[in-house]
Amino acid sequence: SLQQPEGDQLPRYVRVNTLKTTVEDAIDYFKREGFSYLGQAYRLDDLNLKGKSFVGDLHLSDLLVFSPKTDFHDHNLYKAGHIILQDKASCLPAYLLNPPTGSHVLDACAAPGNKTSHLAAIMKNKGRLFAFDLDAKRLSTMSTLLLRAGVTCQQLANQDFLKVDPDGPQYKDVEYILLDPSCSGSGMVCLRDEVSPSQKEQDKRRLQALAAFQLHCLNHALRFPRLQRLVYSTCSIHTEENEQVVAACLLQNPGFRLVPLLQQWPERGLAPLTKCLRASTTKTLTHGFFVALLERHTAQRLEEQ
Ligand code: SAM
Repeated sequence: SLQQPEGDQLPRYVRVNTLKTTVEDAIDYFKREGFSYLGQAYRLDDLNLKGKSFVGDLHLSDLLVFSPKTDFHDHNLYKAGHIILQDKASCLPAYLLNPPTGSHVLDACAAPGNKTSHLAAIMKNKGRLFAFDLDAKRLSTMSTLLLRAGVTCQQLANQDFLKVDPDGPQYKDVEYILLDPSCSGSGMVCLRDEVSPSQKEQDKRRLQALAAFQLHCLNHALRFPRLQRLVYSTCSIHTEENEQVVAACLLQNPGFRLVPLLQQWPERGLAPLTKCLRASTTKTLTHGFFVALLERHTAQRLEEQ
């Protein structure tokens, strides 16, 4: 029953902001509005919904799933910051990084901040969340969004992440980094178009430039002295920006290795990087996406003590 869904046929995902409410309260609110809750999804096909029915997601516990036609941009819960309208795939990075309460976390390319607010929810607003973005306008959108979401543990900076000093004393306890750098956006289904051959040549050069930037960011992030875990993600379907960037980074940083992710997830990174995850309209009913989780080798951690 799974055909190639277009962007407007993908399920609508609603992340419940646990800084402001609970999944149970959000479900009750939607039920009172006439939506019918079908319970927790068990198979991918359970996410193919019609009309006013909705389910709990089968992988992510804070996520509710509605039919493709649903639009909550004017909804009270959205305006009050109780729910975040975020594609399921883009909920993976913060969920997989899973920073503990009280930890020091860095979000390198953070605006407009949906993943930052997700990190804050996982940290229960306890600890420190350093968030950077180069673009002042996107950063100001982000502070509005974080305010609405009730995030209070963040420190925003309009700064080039590549110029942030990993040895700065304020970062000495940073153990978790989320790196979601600029990418081609080729996984966003609404952006996909037919392209001419000359366009293709230009795209190839653009991809090379993006991949070089992404690798640079990744290498820079691994220089933070206390870093234990890093999530790298893109909304690209190109291996040049995904597996190839991660493979090059691992070669250059032998002190880090990949962590195998969610065995029950239906789509893996391209071989040999099958510890990573991919997402797509056909296999996961989301936009195209890529996630890798790197961790420092335990052996090296011991040597350093
Ligand atoms: N993580 C964000 C979220 O979930 O809402 C989306 C991030 S978007 C894919 C990439 C961001 O990186 C853009 O906002 C862009 O302005 C920012 N960026 C690009 N180059 C940067 C740099 N050198 N340092 C910091 N941010 C940068």
